Amino acid sequence: MERRRSVYMDHAATTPTRPEVVEAMLPYFSERFGNPSSLYTLAREAKGAVEEARGRVAAAIGASPEEIFFTSGGTEADNWAVKGVAAASRKKGDHIVTSAIEHHAVLHTCRALEKQGYRVTYLPVDEFGRVDPGTVEEAITDRTVLVSVMAANNEIGTIQPVRAIAGVAHDHGVPFHTDAVQAIGAFPVDVEEMGADLLAISAHKFGGPKATGALYVRKKTRIGTFMDGGAQERGRRAGTENVPGIVGLGRAIELAVAGMPRNAARLAAMRDRLIRGSLEAIPDTRLNGHPVERLPNNVNVAFRYVEGESILLMLDALGVAASTGSACTSASLEPSHVLTACGLPHEEAHGSLRLTLGPRNTDDDVDYVLEVLPGIIGRLREMSPLREVT
Ligand SMILES: *Cc1c(COP(=O)(O)O)cnc(C)c1O
Repeated sequence: MERRRSVYMDHAATTPTRPEVVEAMLPYFSERFGNPSSLYTLAREAKGAVEEARGRVAAAIGASPEEIFFTSGGTEADNWAVKGVAAASRKKGDHIVTSAIEHHAVLHTCRALEKQGYRVTYLPVDEFGRVDPGTVEEAITDRTVLVSVMAANNEIGTIQPVRAIAGVAHDHGVPFHTDAVQAIGAFPVDVEEMGADLLAISAHKFGGPKATGALYVRKKTRIGTFMDGGAQERGRRAGTENVPGIVGLGRAIELAVAGMPRNAARLAAMRDRLIRGSLEAIPDTRLNGHPVERLPNNVNVAFRYVEGESILLMLDALGVAASTGSACTSASLEPSHVLTACGLPHEEAHGSLRLTLGPRNTDDDVDYVLEVLPGIIGRLREMSPLREVT
């Protein structure tokens, strides 16, 4: 009997933890279990491992170790950046500029601040999901305390002109935060090059463990504490450190950055074959996101007359794990806020499929998806009430 195929193409949602990373983490669950805040040898070992990881994260993004703060993941890093800067700047102003296509970790944080009386401008994007730096210029007022625009979008893969956006923010003396969760390991991320004052990272998006991340905070950036308690993370983020997770983050970011040029080129070739193959084989289909300024592993295609959820179920039955948009919204019936911001009509937003590649994907995987997808879309369209009768 043929073994059921298993093709994982949802790396924007999460990635498998690399074996080298698991291996590096393991001793910190058992023999090196010490609390970094204690004073004996066992504790100093744990403290040393945390500081070594901090150095690795800093080196990966062109920062100094004192500018890296470990968090419970990308969501916490985004929450801290936005709420922390807003709170510390309350006397100066009450206005935040962000984009309409941010991850919910930024978007819902901004909504929460609106309920507390802050004002937020959600910048529009063009049909490819790009923010025009000119709109940032128009949005900034003398009450603006933060500009936050993601480095690359998790749904459609569009890469933002963050350097230009940061430049506009700095011209007005406003700090710039970027959610770089999807960018690490995909293209070079350097806080100086990008002009980032704050930058969010999440380990599980590049071969590290879940619930571990970091926030980069440029020296002298005014930001409130996120978690009150002990003196960990120089008193800015209390709580006993997730030592194994932090060690895993350090190892994973080092591997992701070292392997990036080769890995990104390989993924981009598979990405382009998937995009071309689907657009050629299936009529009434379009690419979502930017054709060129795009993450090397991201495919996002809209199929008219079908429901994304139905495509997912049929792909799953054939062993392919994919997504319709971001995992956080796939249980809801609302169309993706990213696709609607790009101007897609609801029917097309609902019929969108996201395939995100990772290092373990092969050309065979791409062939397999291209083999099964036209049949799936064809069958769904035959049953579709959305399809015009011709
Ligand atoms: C996954 C993701 C997050 C959230 O990170 P977690 O570590 O899962 O909390 C934030 N922003 C983007 C762009 C993401 O893709």
